[in-house]
Amino acid sequence: MKKNIAEIIEVSNEIYDKGLVSGKSGNISARFKKDGKDIIGITPTLKSLSDLREEDIVLVDIDGNVLTKGKPSSEVNMHLEIYKKRFDVNAIVHTHSPYATGFAFSSKRLKRLEGFGAIKSPYLSYIEYEKPGTDELAKSASEGIGDEDVLILKNHGVICVSDCLKEAKLLAVFVEETAKTQFITYMLNSVEDII
Ligand SMILES: [Zn+2]
Repeated sequence: MKKNIAEIIEVSNEIYDKGLVSGKSGNISARFKKDGKDIIGITPTLKSLSDLREEDIVLVDIDGNVLTKGKPSSEVNMHLEIYKKRFDVNAIVHTHSPYATGFAFSSKRLKRLEGFGAIKSPYLSYIEYEKPGTDELAKSASEGIGDEDVLILKNHGVICVSDCLKEAKLLAVFVEETAKTQFITYMLNSVEDII
């Protein structure tokens, strides 16, 4: 379990350093087994992902009962509802990464670009805005993600899921990079050629 917690901290630092989360935003979690039961380790509320210690990671059971000290992220229910529906998911990374979130605030949809697994649909799935931290968002996100690994939350941010934390992090980085590429494309197309 110590290893799982260490990995949550490592990935938290990485996504902070890459600029995918800033301030005290964003949250990540991982599911692992203890005595045959699902335990979820999740980042705490109101703390920067840049500066977490082992004791800051909150452990909860699948029903949301807090098993350790501290208060879990306000999006803990969103994470739990996804874990309940998706048995293949063992890690969730939620960011407000700037380019992808810019798209989430705009009327433009984000395309799924080559470079991260099979492209099942041309655009990334999204759900309409629900207030952060609410049961409505938890319900909508867990239903909206279907069998996809990325979900855009309109006017809010991005969720990436995978079977392990390293893959979920890679996906979050990839989604941000593809959003950046698409942003650049839109900008270039909107200016006239110099020659
Ligand atoms: Zn958020």
